[in-house]
Amino acid sequence: MLRNLKLATLRVLKTAGVFNLVADSPWRRNRLLVLCYHGMALEDEHEWRPALYMDPRRLQQRLEMLKRGGYSVLPLGEALQRLQAGTLPSRSVAITFDDGTYDFYRQAYPLLKQYGFPATVYQTTYYMDYQRPVFSLICSYMLWKRRGIVIPDGRRLGLTEPLDLRTEAGRHRVVLSLLGLAEREGLTGRQRDELATEMARFLKIDYEALVAKRILQLMNVQELQEISRAGVDVQLHTHRHRTPEDEDLFRREIRDNRERIQAVVSSTPVHFCYPSGVYRSKFFEWLAKEQIVSATTCDSGLVSSHSRSLLIPRYIDNQFRTPLEFESWLSGVGALLVLRSAATQKYVPIET
Ligand SMILES: [Zn+2]
Repeated sequence: MLRNLKLATLRVLKTAGVFNLVADSPWRRNRLLVLCYHGMALEDEHEWRPALYMDPRRLQQRLEMLKRGGYSVLPLGEALQRLQAGTLPSRSVAITFDDGTYDFYRQAYPLLKQYGFPATVYQTTYYMDYQRPVFSLICSYMLWKRRGIVIPDGRRLGLTEPLDLRTEAGRHRVVLSLLGLAEREGLTGRQRDELATEMARFLKIDYEALVAKRILQLMNVQELQEISRAGVDVQLHTHRHRTPEDEDLFRREIRDNRERIQAVVSSTPVHFCYPSGVYRSKFFEWLAKEQIVSATTCDSGLVSSHSRSLLIPRYIDNQFRTPLEFESWLSGVGALLVLRSAATQKYVPIET
């Protein structure tokens, strides 16, 4: 109901010309919109997790809107510098993709090339080296493939409770149990993958077919090299997609990530994105010690010259957002409405 009211309000504002008025205002000119994307579906991943995966046709619509709307799509680093210098062009936007999935290479990268838009990829590197599906995600995806059933006995997978796959909450509980098991037993990447293989057998899913399609896998070294050479900006997202509470472990995540990226691309990454949007105030000092220039969050908002460089807000675009909502954010109206209602868009973190 509230959403319908919001969409109705946006329609009225757009028809009245308010979108254009705000988009060309001095207020918007001094602000940068950083768009945040995650995966682009190879098959049906956007139906499995619409907050995380998008139909690539929708991404194309978004890029078309950026082009037709005369938006200035800038590389992230340049955009942040120009924001501070007060030299941003009108309607400034930067595009970022989290995680560095294979589907970025396959679906998003060709579209970005077609439109000539620069983009930043925040690359996590453990699964770049280990070319198998991300354990937690592939487990969740396979359980979703078998949604609607209850499996009374999960002991073959080391689980004591029945597998209730009828609801998202039920499936989530199974994933948490599997992750807990993997943690307790200290399973390696290979052993986790064997557990996923076992689960696929249990659910009568052809795991190797999924692996061959590279669903829920990351880009490999060659692909990362190719996109980097073509001008895609590759930046930091931790090695294992996690932010430990301990300084040494936290900084090791950044360093391992940076070393792996540096070995593949020619430049040194200095921009960071918090995995799952999780941050703590103690991280700021640790990031500064690692010479991190900027850090993006999953909090909604436009970036202004007053924004903290280690707390850069973004707009998380996904399968749920209508073209009208997306356009409202491009123009700046969306951010103004969020401020007015003091509401934030909730992002459901995905642990990988
Ligand atoms: Zn991530």
